[in-house]
Amino acid sequence: MKKKKNTRIISTLLLALFLMTAVVGALPIAAHASEDAQTQLLAEGMPSANEEQDKAAEEQDKAAEELNKATEALKQQIEDLKKQNEDLKKQNEDLKKIISLNIEGAESIPVLLYHHVMNEKDMTQEHRSNSNIVSTEQFEAQMKYLHDNKYYTASVEELEQFLDGRAILPKRTVVITFDDGYRSNTRYCYPILKKYGFKASIFLITGLIGAKQNVIEHATWTDLHRSADVFSFYNHSHDLHKLDSNGKSLMVTSAQSVIRRDILTSKGVVDSSYFAFPYGQSSATVVALLRRTGYRMAFTTETGYVGKQANVFGLPRFTITPLVTTEEFGKIISGAH
Ligand SMILES: [Zn+2]
Repeated sequence: MKKKKNTRIISTLLLALFLMTAVVGALPIAAHASEDAQTQLLAEGMPSANEEQDKAAEEQDKAAEELNKATEALKQQIEDLKKQNEDLKKQNEDLKKIISLNIEGAESIPVLLYHHVMNEKDMTQEHRSNSNIVSTEQFEAQMKYLHDNKYYTASVEELEQFLDGRAILPKRTVVITFDDGYRSNTRYCYPILKKYGFKASIFLITGLIGAKQNVIEHATWTDLHRSADVFSFYNHSHDLHKLDSNGKSLMVTSAQSVIRRDILTSKGVVDSSYFAFPYGQSSATVVALLRRTGYRMAFTTETGYVGKQANVFGLPRFTITPLVTTEEFGKIISGAH
């Protein structure tokens, strides 16, 4: 029995020894295993960090691209805004013009008077010394001057509205008129006026429409019809545009009944409310007859501006002669004459 007990003690001791050896032996193995795991983790961690970087770089590229896109869009918006700004500036200028037109309307207006027009090359010395003939070139230069200086060419109707307070005309306004009704007006002046978008008036000697008088041709009905988009036509007597031996107009010296008949005949040919006295000569009788036959305004050849208080049956005009230089013309239209 005692031997059996000893054997059991020895076995227990051996087992304890074995177990201790096993534990001690296992320690470095476990430590080694732990190191391996760490290496493994590090090895796995490396490719994972690279991928992250690539992804970040890709995202950065994408963001840069989007930023570029946004910058381009902004640039476009800026361009659009600039354009809108330009448009607004233009609208503002237009509005300013309208406002200044309404606030600072003309106080007095120059009415220009032309007669016959000839091309420079066709003019003789005699033509050049005729105060009633200007060259086409001179006329063209004057119209260009009006255009370049932004003048408004008002009609005679507008002048009437200005006088009775129904219309405000721009400060830079002129009224262009022609007396007698020469063919040169529709032939040479018409295209020039049309080119500049101007309007003008012709006071016709109705008895001479289509006639040839002293070699100078008068406009025909066809000429008048074809140029009616630029010209308005009014009266300048029918058959009394003549001078007596004393240099007096027959419109003034004739018997009242003759004058009356002439005025009515002329009005029967061209029905208008505006008249230009032949040779600019008027009389109380003629004015009274004009009033009675339905005329509302009449022009003389006296020099001066048409102010708001003007006598509507004695409206002055500036006769444009060949001697009127561009400088002189500028003074007339600017109100400095
Ligand atoms: Zn005349």
